[in-house]
Amino acid sequence: MNFNLNYDNVAESYLFAEVANRVAKYQKAHPDKKVLKLGIGDVTLPLVPAVISALHSAVDEMSRAETFKGYGPYEGYAFLRESIAGYYKKMGVTLNADKEIFVSDGAKSDLGNILDIFSDDNVVLVPDPVYPVYVDTNVMAGRKVIYADATEKNGFLPMPDYKVDADIIYICSPNNPTGAAYTKAQLKEWVDYANSKNAVILYDAAYECFVSDDNLARSIFQIKGAETCAIEFCSLSKIAGFTGTRCGYTVIPAALERKGFNAGKAWLRRQSTKFNGVPYIVQKGAAAVFSEEGMTEIRQNLSYYARNAKLISECLDELGVWYTGGKNSPYVWLKCPDGMKSWEFFDYLLENAQVVGTPGAGFGKNGEGYFRLTAFGSEQVTKEAVQRIKSLLKK
Ligand code: PLP
Repeated sequence: MNFNLNYDNVAESYLFAEVANRVAKYQKAHPDKKVLKLGIGDVTLPLVPAVISALHSAVDEMSRAETFKGYGPYEGYAFLRESIAGYYKKMGVTLNADKEIFVSDGAKSDLGNILDIFSDDNVVLVPDPVYPVYVDTNVMAGRKVIYADATEKNGFLPMPDYKVDADIIYICSPNNPTGAAYTKAQLKEWVDYANSKNAVILYDAAYECFVSDDNLARSIFQIKGAETCAIEFCSLSKIAGFTGTRCGYTVIPAALERKGFNAGKAWLRRQSTKFNGVPYIVQKGAAAVFSEEGMTEIRQNLSYYARNAKLISECLDELGVWYTGGKNSPYVWLKCPDGMKSWEFFDYLLENAQVVGTPGAGFGKNGEGYFRLTAFGSEQVTKEAVQRIKSLLKK
């Protein structure tokens, strides 16, 4: 027996553990100080009433023999797939709910599991810095990973380089951690590149709900040509606070095939072999997200986070600090002042303002010298943290 030794090549994930460690140490030494956290990537507002009510009635259905549900369809119930198709229709994207939408327990699982349908000898292009799941899942499978540099020069939005031959391309927009979002015109360049290289784009749209600017893409399928080269991953985690409830979906266009191999068919085969679906109760709650009532309530939550992001970005505008994000994203990615390194700035902010963020260096080499703040905290904490940052950095 041999274990998969590729696991030895996966980088140690110490970022959030180290953040927690340094905060705990500081609090122990200064029990009188109130530490404010703007580092979390998790939502904090509860599920909206329309979702709660749908969850309750689904629980009641499970209590009666006439309405009880056992195993459901592998790709999710039709009522949810149709609701998702309706959501896309409003952004001008027509999807076949029966063949192109696959419901799952979240974007992270699908982003990892989708690799089952790709050969291990594919070359993978990943932006740096980025959400670590893309790199780690490929390293576990022994694939070669190359990087597209996201830097201040390109606004943390790398563009295709035709000298580079990639087979699988990851794009996350709006991006975690940088908050930067591609325009539709920029994404068209990526779609053209992928089609010309016979490659596939794995498009992570987990933060699409924060996009308010019409020039920016919310789905890769708003771009002509994407149906032959892209798979989109989305999630109810950020739009509807489902991080603990768990529901997401993947869109695979029927036209995505190579040499007679159809990606959507292969994915359904994979899911029906290794996955038994998302709980009926959760899918009922998820469908309520896309109802008129649900959307109205959710918009209020999203505006709450958007106001927090605005508070942070306005503070940085006032201080003259360079940043990306904050406008169509819950993340603000700032350049550490005075040439400080990411962890140096982390300690400086913790010790002098008692504010916690996330060091950019933890997301890739190009993250060094940058720092992530998030809008997912409470309004009160965000306001106080912004005040403290302002007073400290003004000095
Ligand atoms: N994609 C990105 C870029 C994320 O930041 C996250 C979570 O933070 C996910 C995917 C995971 O989403 P889910 O909760 O649906 O697994």
